[in-house]
Amino acid sequence: MSKAVIEQAAVWQSKIFSGTWLPGGGPDLDVTDKGSGALLGQIGSASAEDVDRAVKRGSEAQREWAALPGPARGDVLRKAAAILEARAGEIAAQIVRETGSIRAKGHVEVRMTVREITEAAALGSQPSGMILASEAPGRSSYARRVAVGVVAVITPWNSPLLLASRALAPALVMGNAVLLKPDPHSPVVGGALFAQIFEEAGLPEGLLHVLPGGAETGDALVRHPKIGLISFTGSTKVGRKIGEIAGGLLKKTSLELGGNNALIVLDDVDIEAAASVGAWGSFFHQGQICMTSGRLLVHEKIAGAYAEALARHASALRVGDPSVSDVALGPIINERQAANVDRVIAQSCEQGARLLAGGKRNGLFYEPTVLDGVRPSMPAFEEEIFGPVAPITTFANDEEAIALANQTDYGLVAAVLAKDVLRARKIADQLHAGSVHINDQTIMHEVFAPMGGMGVSGNGSAYGALTNADQFSEWQWVTTRAEIARYPF
Ligand code: NAD
Repeated sequence: MSKAVIEQAAVWQSKIFSGTWLPGGGPDLDVTDKGSGALLGQIGSASAEDVDRAVKRGSEAQREWAALPGPARGDVLRKAAAILEARAGEIAAQIVRETGSIRAKGHVEVRMTVREITEAAALGSQPSGMILASEAPGRSSYARRVAVGVVAVITPWNSPLLLASRALAPALVMGNAVLLKPDPHSPVVGGALFAQIFEEAGLPEGLLHVLPGGAETGDALVRHPKIGLISFTGSTKVGRKIGEIAGGLLKKTSLELGGNNALIVLDDVDIEAAASVGAWGSFFHQGQICMTSGRLLVHEKIAGAYAEALARHASALRVGDPSVSDVALGPIINERQAANVDRVIAQSCEQGARLLAGGKRNGLFYEPTVLDGVRPSMPAFEEEIFGPVAPITTFANDEEAIALANQTDYGLVAAVLAKDVLRARKIADQLHAGSVHINDQTIMHEVFAPMGGMGVSGNGSAYGALTNADQFSEWQWVTTRAEIARYPF
């Protein structure tokens, strides 16, 4: 059917997608293979003028699209999901290249994206409103969901396919036009690819615009008066800035932000199983996931044995270029981020943390690192590290575990490992987090669940099949009478 993403480079080479492939007003962006550093091509980037043009075209196209029957909009999404599925292998390989993911993550991400789009398609045939009671005799009254209009989707690089799809698919099926701004690290698999796939699936022209670029392009989207909803996934720092600007403009926002997630390990666990869970939670995708287990809180009775087992797991994991071999960890996304991991480890060790495994890197290839003796004042406890570091902090009793877990402004995910599940439930009930998992690790994503963060991990919005219809539409109250109503004036 379709050619491989890179073979199709000619399509996106020095181009953005806005109705058709055309040169962008911003500087071209390098598209690189993060494992080898090789240049894969250059993609165009969008200027504020490009954003403005896309908004105008999107608003026009959206009116006709929203007037189509919902099931017909769903059909386009179903076709897009089928195309994606048929191209799964080469798309997974492109995720590996652009983000440094290991191959397994690339494949899982494609599978989850197919699920996101398929579930979103079903929204097109779901009820879109409700019949209401009315005080007035003869007045029919109902509420219906209507499209917002033009939606901006701004995404990070770490799971570019999944995080774009979870917003753009429901936004489209609810009758909106979408302006997608992928991160500059992953502009093809997080952007250009969607333009190709949805065009092939028959999405009418003008509804999906792919506008690569950095902060400036993102800012132009956030400030544009005709964009009614900003769907942003990324850091708390940028999310806060977007929230401030969009708040002033009275725009709807969904902000899914950073995390510093606690994995609590109680004293009755199978230490080997709990160490494996900790290793996965802290090291998967080099620790560069919002749901990464950023703080391992371990009961002091088993802390020594647990730390030793975790260090053993860490030392056994192979690090290398995931495009070349089946490694457990690929590269860190860039030098700035790798240097930040260096800083967090060095400063925490200066303050008394002990390095049990890792702590070294070869360029962007960071060894999975276990830090023991981490206390709450240390950077390894306080910060979202976004690197393959498992910081261990001990606690003496369940109350202390809860207090430590909640000792952060973030509130994305928490998990508890225990043999005594009722005891774990009591702890979980007191954790301030948008997701809480018992006897599992923290990196869990299912489209069927409402995914959102508490505290500075989000602004109260949530993605997922249960919430997407509300998220990507607005309510409209409609009343009808057979004749014009009479009033005393
Ligand atoms: P980031 O905030 O630096 O960038 C995210 C996106 O915002 C990119 O597309 C970027 O170009 C854009 N951007 C940057 N400045 C902007 C501005 N001023 N206005 C508008 N857009 C702007 O995030 P990152 O470093 O790429 O991603 C990592 C962060 O994302 C981590 O904090 C991680 O926890 C978080 N994240 C959260 C979730 C979630 O669902 N909660 C999922 C994945 C990642």
